[in-house]
Amino acid sequence: MTQVEDCIFCKIANREIGSEIVDERETAIAFRDVNPKAPVHILVIPKKHIPQIKDLGPDTCEIMGDIFSLINDIAISEGISQTGYRVICNIGEEAGQEVDHLHFHLMGGRFMMWPPG
Ligand code: 5GP
Ligand code: ZN
Repeated sequence: MTQVEDCIFCKIANREIGSEIVDERETAIAFRDVNPKAPVHILVIPKKHIPQIKDLGPDTCEIMGDIFSLINDIAISEGISQTGYRVICNIGEEAGQEVDHLHFHLMGGRFMMWPPG
């Protein structure tokens, strides 16, 4: 398990390392994926270090509200709200989670296959 002090997404949220930040709220921030898999590929994360969905609870309602507020607004500003887009959260090894800081992939701008590979 990644420690907070080693967490790349905590460093991005704290602006200790650079990324292309798209928008933010009080408790959440959105930035472009460094290795995009779609024309629009943005990661939306809590500013606080929360590893996975299982770590969410009644005390994280504001954070999740901020995350989905960002997703809605960015889908509009990126021009994909009408054509459609994916919101993906990989959890654990079999889903391919690489970074142990909760993040939602907002992906769009191309046709998506279903089911994912
Ligand atoms: P996961 O596989 O954990 O769901 O997705 C992690 C995502 O984070 C990947 O799409 C990867 O390209 C992205 N990523 C990893 N390190 C960095 C980084 O330092 N900066 C940015 N902007 N994205 C990163
Ligand atoms: Zn973190």
